[in-house]
Parts: sequence; structure tokens; C-alpha cells
Amino acid sequence: MAYIYDDQNIFAKILRGEIPSKPVFESDHTIAFPDISPQKRVHILVIPKGPYRCYDHFVTTASDAEQLDFFKSVALIAKQTGTSEAHGGNGYRLITNSGPDSHQEVPHFHVHLLGGETCGPLTAS
Ligand code: AMP
Repeated sequence: MAYIYDDQNIFAKILRGEIPSKPVFESDHTIAFPDISPQKRVHILVIPKGPYRCYDHFVTTASDAEQLDFFKSVALIAKQTGTSEAHGGNGYRLITNSGPDSHQEVPHFHVHLLGGETCGPLTAS
């Protein structure tokens, strides 16, 4: 299946500087910024700079360098936000939505990093 990437999505506009954001982290292939509607005290969105629609698209077509950069960046951001247990924090939750059943709103692959307080049960209907 070919993945269709809509370059008019909000995160593509943020990457092009058409919509303002305040990145808290940037690397060669990845940026992270606060969610505009935080669900927990810590709620950071981590996105690849490349045009990938969802997790499947990213892991099947992004280069090894992009994927390594992305997943290492998530860990660095957990450390930076003080949520990583390995660095004295109390833990965090990662969520990525992929497709309609997941309620993905923005069709640019992203991981939500949530923490700073208990996250509660895994899912809500
Ligand atoms: P998802 O449902 O996984 O696609 O999540 C999309 C997330 O993007 C939601 O949590 C929104 O609050 C967030 N969001 C939408 N627009 C912006 C924006 N301009 N800046 C930061 N976060 C945004």
C-alpha cells in the first residue's frame, strides 16, 4: 500500500514555519514541542522532520538514521522533561495514534510523551 502524505497538515506547517511553535528539542531529523492542549503536566509531541503519515509509514520507509535519531530523541526528551526513571523521574507514557480507529487527528507521525503526574488507565472509549 502506498502512503499518502498531506503536506497541508498542521505539523507540516509548523515544520515550514507557517504556524508558530516553541520547540523544546531539535536534532538532525526530529523536533519536539508542547501539545497545544496538554492532557498532563508534561505533554510533549515528538515528530520526525520528514513527511511520514503514521508509525507504519515511518518505520517502513524512513532511513535508519532518521529512525535511530527519532527514538533516541524520545529518550532524551524524557530525560529533559524530568520524567525518565533512569534520571530520577517518575516515568512517562508514550502514545502514537495511527489511522481512524486510533482517533489520529494530525496525519504526520508523532509520539505523545505524557507525564509529570499519573497517567491512569491505558485507554478511554
Ligand atoms: P493525534 O490525535 O494523536 O493526532 O494528536 C494530535 C495532537 O496535536 C492533539 O493532542 C492536539 O492538541 C495537538 N495539536 C494540534 N495543533 C497543534 C499545534 N498547533 N501545536 C501543538 N499541538 C497541536
